[in-house]
Amino acid sequence: MDCPSCDVEMVDLVGDDHPLRKCGECGGLWIDVSDLNRVLLHNNSVGLESLGGKVNPEADSGQCRECLVDLVRVEGGDRNHPMGYDTCESCGGVFLESEFKDAKDFKQAQQEIVAFFKAFSNTKKKKAI
Ligand SMILES: [Zn+2]
Ligand SMILES: [Zn+2]
Repeated sequence: MDCPSCDVEMVDLVGDDHPLRKCGECGGLWIDVSDLNRVLLHNNSVGLESLGGKVNPEADSGQCRECLVDLVRVEGGDRNHPMGYDTCESCGGVFLESEFKDAKDFKQAQQEIVAFFKAFSNTKKKKAI
């Protein structure tokens, strides 16, 4: 499958039996939503639906290369570190952009995914300070 933002073939990260693809060009990750939830719940996080984030209908997120439908942009993080991911409503794939350049294997990617969503859902907690 090709990267939704660069159009280059993504590579599979091996380790575990979760299919996880990474773009060597932008460092983005593509993961199925059920696998993503498994990773999150396994690492003491809440599932994707409980993490919040706001859909940005204006964003141009590209297309799911598998389904050829437009991806939906969900934004989170805080003012200093705005974050976002794209999701395909057809296949449930989730594309995480550009934060994963260092992830060389599944284990590392998994840790970075958990860290990504920790920062992603930080918005509410920061307001209380
Ligand atoms: Zn890419
Ligand atoms: Zn899709």
